[in-house]
Amino acid sequence: MSQLVERRETTYGIWEETSPVAATLSPQGRGDAVAVEQSRLTWRPSPAIAADVPVDFCIEFDVCGGPDGVRRFVPVDGYGPFTQKAWLAGLAIYRHARTLSNEQVFSYRMMKLIFDRVRSGREHLDRKFASSRDLFVRPTGRGGGIMASLLPDYVGLTSDGAGHSWSIRELTRHGRDAAVEAGYENPTNDRAIAYGLMQAAEMNPSPPLDRTAAQMRVLTALFDAGEDSTAVEDAVIDDVVERLCMAVEEHGDDVWERFEGWYAGRNNNLVQSLARKSGFPRLSRAVVKAALLRLGLRSYEYFGVCLSYFARVVRDDLSEPLTADERRTFVGMYLPQDCYGGLPLVLLRERWTLIGPVAARLWESPTDERLIGALHRLLQIYSDMASTRRAADRRFAALRTALQPTRDMERPESSAQETEVEERQEEHRRLRAAVRRLLLARREGCPDCANGAAWELEMELVGDGEAVVDVTCREHTFDGEYRYEFAEILTAIEGGDAPES
Ligand SMILES: [Zn+2]
Repeated sequence: MSQLVERRETTYGIWEETSPVAATLSPQGRGDAVAVEQSRLTWRPSPAIAADVPVDFCIEFDVCGGPDGVRRFVPVDGYGPFTQKAWLAGLAIYRHARTLSNEQVFSYRMMKLIFDRVRSGREHLDRKFASSRDLFVRPTGRGGGIMASLLPDYVGLTSDGAGHSWSIRELTRHGRDAAVEAGYENPTNDRAIAYGLMQAAEMNPSPPLDRTAAQMRVLTALFDAGEDSTAVEDAVIDDVVERLCMAVEEHGDDVWERFEGWYAGRNNNLVQSLARKSGFPRLSRAVVKAALLRLGLRSYEYFGVCLSYFARVVRDDLSEPLTADERRTFVGMYLPQDCYGGLPLVLLRERWTLIGPVAARLWESPTDERLIGALHRLLQIYSDMASTRRAADRRFAALRTALQPTRDMERPESSAQETEVEERQEEHRRLRAAVRRLLLARREGCPDCANGAAWELEMELVGDGEAVVDVTCREHTFDGEYRYEFAEILTAIEGGDAPES
């Protein structure tokens, strides 16, 4: 297909745009295909900044003009790769426009390293809550009361406390109706959940938040910040930054793969090496971790600044200027917004399923306080669910460890190992006591002894959420095998801690 291409040069870009051709888009999940006019917009660096980006660097948008005549700008590579490229382009533009010093540029690069690390770290929340199963702590399990819903209590209540907490079934039903009303004929599960949560959030919007509080709300929907991270003092953070800068400089000559391995690889020892950096007093690993996380949150702001330098160039340098409507959607997506705590929405793309319906309405009425309150409530719901989910996952992981064979614990080689062994033995003891209580409560095990004191227990992990318990009673020549779900065992562990007799 041969198309006319318009080519121009501005201060910060060399632009190419193909002439529009007719195309049809069928938005995911909707029956109605939309006729659009589509063109391809390509940005390349102008000579002024070309030295700051790789050779052949370019950023491409599909420009889609809908039936409403509004052009929308969609990154061809997808939003994730787009933000990485736009960060680089934005820093080049920023450096040139503001004549940044080398130290300033270094600090932005540093924050980018931290940004990438916290994005790939364990603290990053990646739960999707796409099916009703995801909304249960444990979707199966014969013990009653264990199939806890992750929905916070306030989901279903109005802002003055009327109504009742929704069950998952109610949430999905409300959401399905709302999605159908919004034009989705047969809404998928994840959409029904998103619309259900949106309805709950609109019934009970957050009170107005200032910018800092809004940013915290956004970031806790992206990360499990933990309880400790807010307690780190600024002086400690500065100290960790200093260590990090030195360490990065020392690794400056590493080939990239080695640097990656040290810095963010699966078994990286960054935390350890910063905690024990020579020339500095020792810090605990927990403090270093918390400081890095706080820095990670701060890095979003630095990242957003660079993104917006690039976005402003696109906004202002188009050959056909944006109309008022186009400007609203473009600015709403790519430039920092107060309601997102001063970040551009494009950095929250990973929560799009959840916040997309509200975000799209905010483009039309950006100052609607009820909508902003609903958005902030939605983010709160997400982070509450994600942290409950993670807490449950951690308890399951601890139980799995306690069920592992204990042979490697027998000969500790250091005092640290000794402590670990003691902790694991304690866990194991609690586990055995809980299993014994469970057997007795269910009237399982040897029927001829009253209290199970003489039973020998052997436990084994099966699958990722069940344990097989083998009970032997020599006196009554009894041998029995029982299967318990983790959820049942956890309830027994938390139910009481009587010492094993
Ligand atoms: Zn017995």
